[in-house]
Amino acid sequence: MRAAFPDFRLGNVLATSFTGTLSERHGNAVERIPTPQRLMDWLEVNGLAVDSCTTAQLDLARELRESIHAAATAAALQDALPADAVHVINDCSAQGRAAAILTPDGERRWQLSSASCVEDALSVIAADAISIIAGERDGKLALCASPTCRAAFFDTSQSRTRKWCDMNTCGNRQKKARFHANRRKNSSSTE
Ligand SMILES: [Zn+2]
Repeated sequence: MRAAFPDFRLGNVLATSFTGTLSERHGNAVERIPTPQRLMDWLEVNGLAVDSCTTAQLDLARELRESIHAAATAAALQDALPADAVHVINDCSAQGRAAAILTPDGERRWQLSSASCVEDALSVIAADAISIIAGERDGKLALCASPTCRAAFFDTSQSRTRKWCDMNTCGNRQKKARFHANRRKNSSSTE
């Protein structure tokens, strides 16, 4: 049954991977965490496994997701941050109790206060969003060039000229569209 749900888009920035669970916001939107179980699956893939999730917790997660999207979009456009979105992000950040744990292999792992505490996982995501929106990390917030997407992503390329949120989806689609447009132009010019 789970295979029937849309796949996750995995990036290397937690906060924007999370906002990417709703894609094509300006086209035919794809909800990638349609059920509490799918949020649990996403959290597990991202090192924040929980053993239960209620509908209310899923709603809170989506509220945080859209708040991060709104604030990151404003930051990318260098607009004022929307106050309500900042409020939600700060609330989520303050409400959770997650601890960073250093493993013997020298990796960071997140330890939640309890395995049923989705709020702890959300606090880690909120803190990640704060660090990129505050400009603390090496990279730049930008908006995907695809008009049906416009997702906020964190560009860590050397030149800071990345155009798409995801090369395998939006990037490829744009390339194909350009290829077909060129072919149409070329075939009409030979007529
Ligand atoms: Zn995109």
